[in-house]
Amino acid sequence: MRMLIMGPPGAGKGTQAKGIAERYSIPAISTGDIFRGIAKADPEKASPLALEIKQIMNSGGYISDDITNGIVAERLAEPDATNGFLLDGYPRTTGQVEALDAHLAEKGQQLDAVVSLTADTDELVQRLLKRAEIEGREDDTEDAIRTRQETYREQTEPLLAIYRERGLLFEVDGMGTVDEVSQRIADALAK
Ligand code: ADP
Repeated sequence: MRMLIMGPPGAGKGTQAKGIAERYSIPAISTGDIFRGIAKADPEKASPLALEIKQIMNSGGYISDDITNGIVAERLAEPDATNGFLLDGYPRTTGQVEALDAHLAEKGQQLDAVVSLTADTDELVQRLLKRAEIEGREDDTEDAIRTRQETYREQTEPLLAIYRERGLLFEVDGMGTVDEVSQRIADALAK
């Protein structure tokens, strides 16, 4: 099973990705988690790359395609991803779609499904502000939250049409409890 989970910031991709990955025994690979891991390096030992990533994340923008594609290619080469994976938060740009297509073509592999979680922007901003209080994620400031919503609508939402045309897209309402949403995803994928 090779899958993507897409959706605006705050739609619950990370939470649902873990559930799906467990169900299909595949790794859930989150570019946001990978980037947070790199950015978290001890400031005294932080590389210029780590500092750059941290700065971009805190502004709510996207890391460059070159860096992102390189990091994903490295992760997909790990042994646990050979028989399947669920990508959470990748691809987010047309350049990343092309890189992923090229990577899969080279391996003679194909995507099986793309789950898109849909959600209302106002509700998302409220959720993220609440998460900021609880988790204290450094990029959950109100400005960054708004910028991330805009960046998503401008750069990533249009990618859904590509996967819809390929017949891979499953749109699932992301509003409701975690269990309600995971049930909807399971129902959609069972088809
Ligand atoms: P969210 O879905 O709330 O934006 P993520 O954890 O998925 O949270 O991503 C956090 C940040 O990491 C993004 O705002 C962006 O700066 C960076 N990032 C994650 N994935 C990508 C990607 N595929 N391309 C570029 N930047 C990314």
